Amino acid sequence: MAIRPSKIICVGRSYADHARELGNAVPDQAVLFLKPPSSLLGLDEGISWNPAWGSCHFECELSLRIDQPLKDAGSPEQALAAIGAVTLGLDLTLRDLQDSLKKQGYPWERSKAFDGSCVLGDWVDASEIEDWQQAQYQFEINDELRQSGNTANMIFDIGSLLMEISQVFGLEPGDVIMTGTPSGVAPLHSGDQLKMTLKGKTQDFVWNTWVK
Ligand code: ZN
Repeated sequence: MAIRPSKIICVGRSYADHARELGNAVPDQAVLFLKPPSSLLGLDEGISWNPAWGSCHFECELSLRIDQPLKDAGSPEQALAAIGAVTLGLDLTLRDLQDSLKKQGYPWERSKAFDGSCVLGDWVDASEIEDWQQAQYQFEINDELRQSGNTANMIFDIGSLLMEISQVFGLEPGDVIMTGTPSGVAPLHSGDQLKMTLKGKTQDFVWNTWVK
């Protein structure tokens, strides 16, 4: 199924260890921002950005595809039932630019919603996640482990997070949620070979891409 999402909703600071590594407070409600559909980049296209914008950080994130309309979910269970598929994605972030925008109190979109800032793996059926509270994934660059994610370490569990999101944004089939990144974020470099691995029920799912 290749429905173009009406929106991609991203969660910031959802892992306490990542909030701390950037010197941010651990939030008491979800930090949400959007990427437009024009931010999507295929795995086979190669990552690039304008070097004049400074460094581009990787943030590997468990990503959810909504397959049923969801608005004002009444419970975490109801919210979870709307997830049709999962994958891993990269929430690419122009960190120097973001730091400057944050300092000035401006919105983040220039640093996080630019063309090519959202790289998603292929979708796999949501049934591959046996337990939303213990989904595991990892991110490697040039065969070196850089990020290791487990949803057990999230500040808000996936069901509660999705319920809260649905109370702000009505979700339509095809919409994507990027659930935030664990610690380990750092700049990408030209030529880097990137590998995302999601531990599924029946197998490990692996997606590769690279930096031009
Ligand atoms: Zn992120």
